[in-house]
Amino acid sequence: MAERVMRTVRDLRRSNRSMLLRRLYFDGPLSRQDLIDTTTLSAASVSNVIGDLINDGLVAEVGSVGSDGGRPRILLRVDGSRWHAIGVDVGETRVLVELFTLDLAVLARAEYPLPDGCGDVTAVVERIDAGLRGVLKESSVDQAAVAGVGVGVPGVVARGAESGGRNGVVVHGQTIGWNAVPLERLLRETGTMRADMPLFIDNGATTLGQAEMWFGAGRGTRDAVIALIGSGVGACVVTDGSPYRGTGRSAGEWGHTTVQVGGRSCRCGARGCLEAYVGAEAVIERYREAAAGEATAVTAIDGQQHAESEESALAAILAADERGDEAARAVLEETAVYLGVGVANLINLFNPEQIALGGWAGLLLGARLLPRVRQIAGEYALRHAFATVDLSLCELGPDAVARGAATLPVAGFLNAASAQVTALHVR
Ligand SMILES: [Zn+2]
Repeated sequence: MAERVMRTVRDLRRSNRSMLLRRLYFDGPLSRQDLIDTTTLSAASVSNVIGDLINDGLVAEVGSVGSDGGRPRILLRVDGSRWHAIGVDVGETRVLVELFTLDLAVLARAEYPLPDGCGDVTAVVERIDAGLRGVLKESSVDQAAVAGVGVGVPGVVARGAESGGRNGVVVHGQTIGWNAVPLERLLRETGTMRADMPLFIDNGATTLGQAEMWFGAGRGTRDAVIALIGSGVGACVVTDGSPYRGTGRSAGEWGHTTVQVGGRSCRCGARGCLEAYVGAEAVIERYREAAAGEATAVTAIDGQQHAESEESALAAILAADERGDEAARAVLEETAVYLGVGVANLINLFNPEQIALGGWAGLLLGARLLPRVRQIAGEYALRHAFATVDLSLCELGPDAVARGAATLPVAGFLNAASAQVTALHVR
């Protein structure tokens, strides 16, 4: 009984720490009085917990503001400089590894092209491993001060049964040839990460979604869809503040919803998927077909490495359209129509407050096509739901998948701050 009471007190203290830390992380700087006014905690509890958090180096005092007639109020915020997180973006054309402060400012980055795509798992693991070593060395950050590593992958992430479930996360990437790849075990086996380093693996669109919900286009909303358009197409559907995952964690595969019955073949094996029309690979392919036999904007760069050529080819198609190239104009118009239809489907299914188009290809295409996409979505969506949705581009740039991946260990750190800090202090 006494032990249970002890545990309850400890749990309560931990949850109070986590609550205040999260509040300061997302809404800081705030004063102690702000925290008292906006949480259910007493003045004494806030004072005690903040004292502990300052002692642990998690919270810092950062100046003060005057208050009416009274003493100035000292402002507090999370001290992002002492703790770190690493985010990894496994894209279809490259691996990007970035080391961040706790408040997600980039301190170091390492990028490796995947000339043959990301189908070769060994090559991907080698690049992630090299990237981890590279960013730790470049930043001179000790692993003991890294709260964890997050990895965004282009596939469905599930808990595996192998090794009695201990090797944890496996990745099913149907369009890239990954069949139950035990990525967590493979990364642990490289030996670069310390054995107890928290490691989080999630779908790249979901990590991008989390980054945009925390700091970008989705900030302040509870129901949103963040779309990731690169070579492939995915989405993070956020309902009431959390990603909707489905029973097998594969929800949000927007790219493989049908927009044309019996249409173009998709990499997933089906026909007429949205990805087969608006994914970068598909747009380039459709342009090649439309301009067949002519000197096209993209043939000139065909000889280059795959990693570079997809981005340059899409940019070349946009440039060709500006020069009045008929094939480019037609392909981009068709892309806008399919994208608009896809957006209308999201609106009708989820009634979101916000839809943001991101990913490197989404940002490139969206900068040109967004008004037309919005117009088409308005023609296909139900009027009431369309009237209340804000359709925009993502705000964190084309590399936000790595930042989003880093939010996974940061979220874990904020939720379990007391346990983790104790462990790190002991080391
Ligand atoms: Zn498909």
